Amino acid sequence: MLEMMNKHNPFPQQLVIEVTAACNQDCIFCGRTYMERPKRSMKRWMWDRIVEEVAKESPYTEIWPAFMGESMILGDKLFDMIAYARKVGCKKITLNTNGTRLNEKTIPRILEGNIDRLIISCDAHTPETHEIVRPGRKTEGLAAIYLGVLKLSEEIRRMRLQKPIIEMQFSVFDENEHETEDFKQFWFEKGLIVKLRPKVYWSGVVSDGNHRMTLGDHRKECLWSLDTACIHWNGNVVMCAIDSEGKYVAGNLEMQSLQVIWDGPLKWIRELHIRKRFSELPEICRKCPDWEVKKAHAFFPNEEVKQDYEAYISKGRTFTARHFWKENIEQFK
Ligand code: SF4
Repeated sequence: MLEMMNKHNPFPQQLVIEVTAACNQDCIFCGRTYMERPKRSMKRWMWDRIVEEVAKESPYTEIWPAFMGESMILGDKLFDMIAYARKVGCKKITLNTNGTRLNEKTIPRILEGNIDRLIISCDAHTPETHEIVRPGRKTEGLAAIYLGVLKLSEEIRRMRLQKPIIEMQFSVFDENEHETEDFKQFWFEKGLIVKLRPKVYWSGVVSDGNHRMTLGDHRKECLWSLDTACIHWNGNVVMCAIDSEGKYVAGNLEMQSLQVIWDGPLKWIRELHIRKRFSELPEICRKCPDWEVKKAHAFFPNEEVKQDYEAYISKGRTFTARHFWKENIEQFK
């Protein structure tokens, strides 16, 4: 059974890397706002080591150089790191940003061709709501973000570029739910993809998620655990993309390779999920209200954009949850 699983999931398909834990916003719903661990940046040698391993072992693993911080505050350093990842052979790179640093300096660097997908997390369609859900320090607010996105997409059109694919992300909370449809319509009219995401409780760091916690029969294996690995700035490989504090550390990349950690402690975690032995999982998973949140929904302004997006997402993937469920789950019942 273990061989069968390895066959389908030999290496993480997505790799979330915290190039910095510093940020210029204090979002009300973000695990980082409540985080107690130090908020530093990754050493360049650590980044180089990670992307070199990805290029060698699994070049189509999608690299996300953002976790609990705003990567674009690193400025040129970030784009140099991304350029290095591309140079050594990483084929899929997605940058997730709050959009506050989209300007005349950063837009040309985004257009260098090293970023395949750019996700801009706004979570509001009016400045008032944006200020409530994403209060910022030294930022110019939602209007400046919208201007930056429009300028970037105009440049992509003018230069006839295929990438980056731009996605406008909206995480839905009580405070912003009423703006969801307006947000969607506005960005559809500009030809961009809109991604809606349910509220993440950061495995209980943000309160009120009790209604989603369960060890019952309808709980399924968590997609975060099955195909994604997540790395803090100090090289700690943690449970998943919602483990903001590092409650479960599977290993550290200063001392081990990612492959060793993926085939070691994280493999055991995956097995427990697959076999539905949820009560034996580490506490962060056992009490997690976010086990089904990875399924964010993307909406497309037209068929052509949808096809381009799906081609990018499936490019080089050796593992998908759908395959996995179809080919394996029956055996584990
Ligand atoms: S159950 Fe929760 S803590 Fe565990 S991997 Fe999934 S999202 Fe992370």
